[in-house]
Amino acid sequence: MKQQFDIAVFEGDGIGPEIMKPTLEILARLSDSGGYHLEFNTVPAGAAHYAQTGESLPAASMAAARDSHAILLSAMGLPSVRYDDGTEISPQIDLRKTLTLFAGVRPVRIFPGQRTPLKMPDGKEVDFVLIRESTEGLFHTQGRGEITRDEARETLLITRDISEKLFRFAFGLARERKARGRGKGRVTCVDKANVFRAFAFFREIFDAEAAKNPDLIADHAYVDATALWFVLKPWEFDVLVTENMFGDILSDLGAGLMGGLGVAPSADIGLDHAVFQPCHGSAPDIAGHGIANPLAMILSGAMMLDWLGLRHDVPQMVADGTRVREAVETVIAEGRVLTADLGGSASTQDAAVAVMAQLDIA
Ligand code: NAD
Repeated sequence: MKQQFDIAVFEGDGIGPEIMKPTLEILARLSDSGGYHLEFNTVPAGAAHYAQTGESLPAASMAAARDSHAILLSAMGLPSVRYDDGTEISPQIDLRKTLTLFAGVRPVRIFPGQRTPLKMPDGKEVDFVLIRESTEGLFHTQGRGEITRDEARETLLITRDISEKLFRFAFGLARERKARGRGKGRVTCVDKANVFRAFAFFREIFDAEAAKNPDLIADHAYVDATALWFVLKPWEFDVLVTENMFGDILSDLGAGLMGGLGVAPSADIGLDHAVFQPCHGSAPDIAGHGIANPLAMILSGAMMLDWLGLRHDVPQMVADGTRVREAVETVIAEGRVLTADLGGSASTQDAAVAVMAQLDIA
């Protein structure tokens, strides 16, 4: 009998439904021909839903997310829909906090044939993972910052509990990547420990976790220098781990190195739950035209297969995750069917069909 996995699906706002549709199609076709079954349960949330109902993340949607094996999310938020305090509707951040999804996993890959603003030396490939802590840091007081006429304050929070979980996750990922031949087994703690006591605390907890993993290499880098090295020698990184706001900024830089947000996947992972979603937002400027790049969403689906397969010991899901990633990379490298953000003129559906053709499931 096929093992069944319940997937909560948040189609979200803007281009969200347009990129989710082909992703579910690919995942359903793979699972139908495989030894597992994915049961999708689409639930409402987001800015448009808030504008209609006054609720951004209904309790029933939250419950469905909590009860699922994994959560797929496209993008949420619209600049035109805001709370009274001027901030935007962002249920994706509420999900991270409520489900304690402390590890924001942002893979950065540059392979031969991929469009990149970098001048890549011959024979070099980029394959690193940035882990952004996603529940505290400078996002701790999100929506609760103190404002007077003359001052504004937000508080950065680093806790021992979350930092320990985060670093354990980072070392575990580095070990797993090394075993798959995809990294040197190196973890870099990215901080600002030269200036802020909170980051000296962060680094001290990292060093304690490093001492428990003598088979792996551990080192440190300041966040400003890391931004420089992302551009000058990104092929040297393996796994990097950092605070929420630093990770927020560095992950967009990582997406830029890969040629744009349209190819940057991500996962927000905790001990019991995980959300898989592209790094980009709802792109309202191109929504409704059928031209959004679906590849970041499809790659996020591949990360979900990998995570579920490892967690539930279903090797075929892990293999399918790798196949999807490789199919997307081939489509990008061949460059025949690319959406406008990557310099082509293909539609969302054309790009998705090109991936399906590579997978032999068209
Ligand atoms: P954005 O990522 O939506 O768009 C930035 C630029 O990248 C736009 O020009 C857009 O057209 C382009 N782009 C993004 N994704 C693309 C894709 N798949 N294919 C082709 N082009 C793509 O960022 P923004 O404009 O700053 O934000 C728009 C909304 O999304 C805002 O309401 C914001 O709060 C929200 N947002 C949500 C998330 C999330 O759900 N995780 C993340 C970031 C922003």
